[in-house]
Amino acid sequence: MSLKSAPFWWVICDDCGASAQESSDVSAWMRQDVAVDEALAQDWWIADRHDDDRGKDYCDDCVSKHDIWYCEGCAELKRIVRDDGARWCSECAVSLAREEAKQ
Ligand SMILES: [Zn+2]
Ligand SMILES: [Zn+2]
Repeated sequence: MSLKSAPFWWVICDDCGASAQESSDVSAWMRQDVAVDEALAQDWWIADRHDDDRGKDYCDDCVSKHDIWYCEGCAELKRIVRDDGARWCSECAVSLAREEAKQ
């Protein structure tokens, strides 16, 4: 018998501890990037994929506790730096400020 084991991957929320595979049929993935893609598809925040230097991953329930929302400008899940009724990521807040300066 040649029995082998492989590493398995799944993403855990750094806030509440939820697992990204909970709502999936799969308990873990053979590939790290697939596990991350699955979490992203569920509106999770993956610090690595967003170049977020805080390095924390959050589930879709916890993102808003960390100022992460869908930006009104680019419609992407981003860390929000400006909230005046609409939520803006840093890139969009800068271009918005530029627009306002012109007026
Ligand atoms: Zn969470
Ligand atoms: Zn934006």
